[in-house]
Parts: sequence; structure tokens; C-alpha cells
Amino acid sequence: MQDIIALDAMRAWTRAEQARGASVAFVPTMGFLHEGHLRLVDRARELADRVVLSIFVNPLQFGPGEDFERYPRDLPRDRALAQGRTVDVLFLPERAAIYPAEPVVRVTAGALGETLEGAARPGHFAGVLTVVLKLFAIVQPDVAVFGRKDFQQATLVRRMAADLDLPVTIDVAPTVRELDGLALSSRNAYLAPAERRSALALSRCLRAVEQGWRGGEANPAALVRRGLEILTQPGVTPEYVALVDERLQPVERVTAATVVVVAARVGKTRLIDNVVLGDGVAGDVAVRS
Ligand code: AMP
Repeated sequence: MQDIIALDAMRAWTRAEQARGASVAFVPTMGFLHEGHLRLVDRARELADRVVLSIFVNPLQFGPGEDFERYPRDLPRDRALAQGRTVDVLFLPERAAIYPAEPVVRVTAGALGETLEGAARPGHFAGVLTVVLKLFAIVQPDVAVFGRKDFQQATLVRRMAADLDLPVTIDVAPTVRELDGLALSSRNAYLAPAERRSALALSRCLRAVEQGWRGGEANPAALVRRGLEILTQPGVTPEYVALVDERLQPVERVTAATVVVVAARVGKTRLIDNVVLGDGVAGDVAVRS
């Protein structure tokens, strides 16, 4: 595994590999790697001959007062984990190289970027989509792998690739959870032990909606109420529970393809999760962490 820091060196590396006939898969991350990220690497390895993993904590996607400064960072640990999963290139661009100046032109997703997470975090998806497009332009991968854990993000990245005719295939890999259901997230590192227990409210909420639906409840408002009942408990501040289709539109008719999305604050930590009803929480990947 080699580190690449300079943008032109990254571009040249991909060009050389592709000239040799090798395909390149790309996994963008903000680091503090966990098994969720590493499964994306495994998936990337299945899809292409070479794997590039980037670590860049993107200031553009954090709002004022959010956790950009204190976002967990541990490069030596990340390097060891990436090496263990046979990453070929660890791409570590510097902030000044990615943003020599505040970007004037940004990618926005209109109304789809302003609902759910976008409503709670104004400007967040413009920050995400802009950096993803920049990273695509630098790394120039054949395929890029994202996690379904960030359902709205993965949906908008897919949409960006389609709408802007980007020459990259977007692959979305299943959510990785701990055995008790908590979705892995770098932000779980913020949780004190009692908060870690409270954080199970999110996956329990998803399960409750799923069970309600399997039990025959087809009314979206009733299913949302059921989810909110489970989510609402001491130490947890619910932000939303919603039932949407794969295009992020609220559903009137609930089907196996309907996605339940949830966001809540546990103490000061904001967590999100989701499940495709037909797959169920049990259909995601469970790991002992
Ligand atoms: P992040 O470092 O949080 O920006 O995440 C980088 C990538 O890893 C994104 O595509 C996320 O959706 C994905 N990811 C984060 N957590 C998980 C998880 N628990 N399961 C699957 N993918 C994940």
C-alpha cells in the first residue's frame, strides 16, 4: 500500500494503472475507519483490480457549530486497517490542495438535498456532492463504493453521476451493524457507555416499523407513529422518522422497497440509520466489533 498526497500524483497513478488495463475502484471516507468502511473496501476489491481509499475530513459538509474540529482522527490506526484489507493507495489529500480558496461553484441537489438530513443540516449535501465530484475528478475511478448507512447521500451521489453523465459506476454496499443492531459509525466514538445503550433506540425503531409492516400495517403515518414511540426515550431526542421510496419521496403506499429513515440525537451526538423494509435490519451485515 502506498500513500499519495498530491492531487496530480493521484491522477497519474490511476492513468498508469488504467493504461496497463487495470480497473480502479474508489472508496471515499472521512477516516477513523471501522468495519463498515472496510466492507466497502472488500466490495471495491470484488469490483476492480485496484482499490483507492481516501481519507479527507471535508470542512465543506460541516455546518457552523457542527463537529468538524473534533471529528475523530487516527491516521496510524487507519493506515494499519487499510493495509490489512489490501488497499493499494491511501489517498490523503491536504485541505489546502482540495480547497485553495472557498469554491464558488458547488453541486447542489435542489429539493432532494434539502429534505431529511438536508433539512437538519443546511448546505450539507452541497458540501458532500462538491467534494465527491472533486474526488472523482482527481482519482478518476471506474467504480466508486458508498455505504447504504448514509442512504440519502448514496442516493444523491447516484443521482449526480446520472444527471451529470459522470464516467463512473456507483455501487452501494449494505449497512454494517454491531451484533446488537447499532449501525457502525465513526461518531459512535463520541458515545459514553450509557449513551451507547440509548443509541440502540434507532435500530429498535427501524425494527418496530419493520415488524409493524410485516404484521400487516400499511399506513405510513401509523408506522411512523410506531417508530417514534420506540425512538422517544430518556437520553434520545428524535429528529425524524420517515418512509420514503428509493428516490427519497415520501410514500403513500408502503412496499418491500420502502426505506425507513431515522435521525436522532443521543446526548450531543447526532446519529442516523435506515432500513429497506423488505430486507429488514436482519438483512444487513452484523459484525462483532
Ligand atoms: P464516512 O467516513 O462517515 O464519510 O463514510 C464513508 C463511507 O462509508 C460512506 O459511503 C458511508 O456510507 C460508509 N459507511 C459508514 N458507516 C457505514 C456502515 N455502518 N455500513 C456501511 N457503510 C458505512
